[in-house]
This record gives sequence, structure tokens and C-alpha cells, in this order.
Amino acid sequence: MLVVKKFGGTSVADKERIFNVARRCIEDYKKGNEVVVVLSAMGKQTDVLLDMARDINPKASKRELDMLMTTGEQVSVALMAMAMDALGVPAVSFNAFQVQMHTTAVYGNSRLKKIDTERIRTELENKKIVIITGFQGINKYDDYTTLGRGGSDTTAVALAAALHADACEIYTDVDGVYTADPRLVKDARKLSEITYDEMLDLATLGAGVLHNRSVELAKKYGVQLVVRSSLNNSEGTVVKEEVKMEKMLVSGVAVDRNVARISVIGLLDQPGVAFKLFNHLARHNINVDVILQSVGRDGTKDISFTTTADDCDEAVEIVKRHGEGSLKCQKIEVEKEVAKLSVVGAGMMSNPGVAAKMFEALYDVGINIKMISTSEIRVTVIIDDKHVEQAINSVHQKFSLGEN
Ligand code: ADP
Ligand code: ASP
Ligand code: MG
Repeated sequence: MLVVKKFGGTSVADKERIFNVARRCIEDYKKGNEVVVVLSAMGKQTDVLLDMARDINPKASKRELDMLMTTGEQVSVALMAMAMDALGVPAVSFNAFQVQMHTTAVYGNSRLKKIDTERIRTELENKKIVIITGFQGINKYDDYTTLGRGGSDTTAVALAAALHADACEIYTDVDGVYTADPRLVKDARKLSEITYDEMLDLATLGAGVLHNRSVELAKKYGVQLVVRSSLNNSEGTVVKEEVKMEKMLVSGVAVDRNVARISVIGLLDQPGVAFKLFNHLARHNINVDVILQSVGRDGTKDISFTTTADDCDEAVEIVKRHGEGSLKCQKIEVEKEVAKLSVVGAGMMSNPGVAAKMFEALYDVGINIKMISTSEIRVTVIIDDKHVEQAINSVHQKFSLGEN
């Protein structure tokens, strides 16, 4: 059996944890399995590196940021190989260059395109445990790229797909996927299984337990995932196409605090304005999320939208540049202390009233909603960031998610 095992930053944060992971992998290896290990940078090392960069140059290029960030993963894989060696098991570490993990050209948020598995296969045949850097790739310029924060999960799933692995296990600091972030909601409940679609929505909407593109890839290539704890042996959550249980009305609540709202006030109320505004942003690779347009009045209208907090300053700069020119807006307002709260569940498709129930949960605790957006299987609101904990707990309780 070929197993891909991915361990996140907390799971390899120090010497003791590195040896703990090494032992878990060796256990699998000794059962006769082929073991491929994907690692993240130790602890909060990626954040540490980004802080160093900001300190030197707040406008550092994305290329150099990727050069810097990829060092984090390289440290973990080399130390892991040394730990396994110290435990008497042959292991070899590789970075994205050595296994040729090709990505799109863009820095900071690349997509994996192709992985050469030859070198991995050779080393597995040599009876080694193969340890690979998560989160990184190389582009057509032979530069390092990164897959976006949390991207090591995606490396693991891509490797599992490319190697036709029999199992893909994501080990982290919680023992599975919960109905809400257990750090924010005390009575959050662990799900034994969840569909790709629901997991994809939860991950995209802020449930950082899995990188959303890892779920997308898992669905595309039919890679069944297990999310488990690296610190205990409890069962974990299986992420797959179909679940046995009847579809739940709501499977979880997610929150994303890396959000900013930009309001462009007093735009001309005429065709093409929204197109121009969002086209400028798209050309700079800025993803826009929730969009709200006011009813036109006196020949003008307002458009509000959200971006990630990281993209906010650049987005404002772009809107200013064009807003004062061709778009002729009167004012731009920016709010950085906002958050996005969403309920997700395939069951809501056939059950009206989910949105109302969510709004009621917020009303119960006197929280104002700034923006609303819905799809067939989710309801999303934008609220003030300071209300996040109260809001998520109230919504979680309203849908009785903590109960079995
Ligand atoms: P790793 O470094 O192992 O990749 P992450 O920090 O990326 O770990 O992801 C694990 C964290 O995700 C947990 O500590 C938890 O706080 C958070 N999280 C957010 N939403 C959920 C959820 N629905 N279920 C479980 N964990 C969640
Ligand atoms: N080290 C990277 C990050 O912190 C990738 C990962 O952890 O998945 O975002
Ligand atoms: Mg992660």
C-alpha cells in the first residue's frame, strides 16, 4: 500500500514533535507500506519569515517572498529525514525542484500543473521513506512559487493523485473536521464524514483545517482524505464523494477574518461601470468575493465588495487610480475590521428558512449584518470582526450543531 501522510506546522514545531511524526511514519513503513510524507514549515515559521520580509521591505516582490517562504518547508523535510535516519530508517528529503513540481507562473498563489513522480518512485523502490516539501512548486522561469497559505494540504493531495496512492492522510492539531472551529466554539462537534462539496465550501469560506484547493483536487481525482490528529489516535474525519448519513441541513459554520470591505460610492448609474471596476481588479489578480450594489438614485449608485485583507491596499489603489479617472466615483470607503461568517450544508437546498434562521441567530445577540450573499448550499454574512465569536456561537447553537 502506498500512503501519503501530511503533517502541518504545529505537528513538526519542535524536536519532540518531529520525532513523534517520524515514529508514526516509521510504524506505517514497518508494516510494509510505501510512505510519502509531506511537511509544512515548523510551527509559525512562515509567519516569522513574512514578518522578516515586511521589516526589510513592506513592498517586497512576490517572487522574493516565495524564495523566502519556501525555505521554511525545506528546513522541516531535512530535519525529518535526519530524525528518521537517527531512528534507523532510511529516508530522503526533496524540495519542489528535486521532484519537479510544476506550477502556473504566478507567485504567491500558484496552481500545481504537473508532478514528475519518477524520482519518488525510485526512492520508494530503494525502500526509503520519501519526505517532500509542502506548499511549494516551480514555474516556467525555474523560480520557486508557493501555493497560497495552507497550501501543503494541496501538495499532499496532488502527490496522492499523481502516485495513485491508496490513502491520503492529513495530520493536524485537531482530530478532524468539526461543525465549527473548535478554538472558537467550545461545543463544536467532530464529523465522522463530510462530502467533498461541503468541505470545499467550508474550506473556501474560512475553515482553515484544509486548504480549499486540496479539496477541489481530491474531488477531481477521487482521492479520499482522512483528517486526523498527529498527537492522538482518534478516528478523524473522512472527506469523500457520498456520505452514509442523510444530508444535514447545515453541516458547519465557517468564519474568515482575513476580509476587508471596499465601498465605491457615487458611481455613474450606467451600463459597463461594474464591468470596468471589476475588470481592473481582475487584471491585477485580485479576487473579489461578496458584491453588493445599491439601487441607483439621481444617476449614481454605490458598489461594495470584499477582498482578502491582504489584497485590500492594492485593490484600493487600483480603484482610486481608475475611480478618479474613467469610473468617476465620488468616494471610496474601506473597512478592514470585518469578517465573513457562513453556514454550509447540502440539505439547505430543499429546506427554506436557513437564511432567516441565521439572521435570527445574529438578531438574538444584537449583531448587525453588513452584507449578505447566498448559494444553494450556503448563506454568508459580513459582520464586524469584533463580533465574530459571539456570532459564530449563536449561529452554531441556533442550528443545534453541537448535538448529535
Ligand atoms: P496545519 O498546520 O496542521 O495545516 P491549520 O492551522 O492549517 O493546521 O489547520 C488546523 C486548524 O484549523 C485548527 O487548529 C482549527 O483551529 C482550525 N479550524 C477552522 N475550522 C475548523 C473546523 N471546522 N474543524 C476543525 N478545525 C478547524
Ligand atoms: N507553511 C505554509 C503556511 O504556513 C503552508 C502550510 O502550512 O500548509 O501557510
Ligand atoms: Mg493547514
